[in-house]
Amino acid sequence: MSKDIKLLVGPTTLPKKVMTAMDHEVFGHRGKYYEEIHKSVVDKLGQLIGTKEDVILLTSSGTGGMEAAIQNCFSIGDKVIAPIIGNFGERFADIAETYGLIVDRVYFELGETADISKAMERVNKDTKGVIIVHNESSTGVYNDIEALGKELRNKDVLLVTDSVSGLGGLKINMDDWGIDVVVSSSQKALMSPPGISPIALSKKAWERVEQSNTPTYYFNLKKARKMAEVNQTPWTPATHTLLAMKAATEMIFDEGLENVYKRHKVNQRILIEGIEKMGYSIFAKNATYASPTLTAIKTPMGSKRVVDYFKENNILISAGLAPIKDEIIRVGTMGFVYEKDILEFLRVMNEFDKTI
Ligand SMILES: *Cc1c(COP(=O)(O)O)cnc(C)c1O
Repeated sequence: MSKDIKLLVGPTTLPKKVMTAMDHEVFGHRGKYYEEIHKSVVDKLGQLIGTKEDVILLTSSGTGGMEAAIQNCFSIGDKVIAPIIGNFGERFADIAETYGLIVDRVYFELGETADISKAMERVNKDTKGVIIVHNESSTGVYNDIEALGKELRNKDVLLVTDSVSGLGGLKINMDDWGIDVVVSSSQKALMSPPGISPIALSKKAWERVEQSNTPTYYFNLKKARKMAEVNQTPWTPATHTLLAMKAATEMIFDEGLENVYKRHKVNQRILIEGIEKMGYSIFAKNATYASPTLTAIKTPMGSKRVVDYFKENNILISAGLAPIKDEIIRVGTMGFVYEKDILEFLRVMNEFDKTI
């Protein structure tokens, strides 16, 4: 298990430093010791997200963060637009409907990035928000959130984005791009175990929180923000995931954020060039929007065979998700992944190719 190269689309590889940070006795979360760790993590997350606003740490997986965004920022009956380019976009729309929002789903063909002008055509005077995935992990395609932010900046419409598989590997800049809500999760490019979902809100979004009539309890962001003032959380936090995130975010800034982004892009390029040389192709229809944190590769022979073969060779990769489960493999290049891992992946892919 430990010898495996993990190229999964989360949870991702834990660097040794991150694992060591968790080798720690339990500690209380109502004191200075906890508060200092909390502060270190939210400060670095703020820089990663690109915001001067508070970063709230929720004890949950990424889906919990998505749910918190919907619950707190909208009211029952609010109309939102949901551009959908895959599974996670669909999930965001489902959550919104669960909380009584009226969701206008704008579908794009799988493998495509959302056409921002088409999405904008659906925005009208009743629109309260646009909910969209930054990096769609089911297809390996990202959305141009910066362009969408430009369109929405001066409108009374919240731009809410799930950057669960983007943050820390794919550039985002919340304040500059005019994003109102960014949600992420510890177990993807943030190189930590599952358990913490960071969320940040703009001033415009916090105003909406004040107006929201949606019931909340566990994910009440007003309560969470109050506690965040003293670097605490309302409920018991995932203390050891937090220790991991402290080490992981320190590693990101030691390497340098721009270098981290660059490493993701270089790895992606080597990976794509390598598989194309073997006659394979990526699922993304436009290479410009192919995600640097995961690559979806078409597998005409069925994905299960490929995933199994890699597993036998000590490399863990992901199959597709419905409805293209069998049609692609997904290779995570997020977080602690280096060129040697990509080259090993390509070596095994080449071996596999000889078996078919
Ligand atoms: C992983 C992921 C999520 C969250 O999944 P959880 O299992 O709840 O952490 C949400 N959106 C995207 C794009 C993801 O990749």
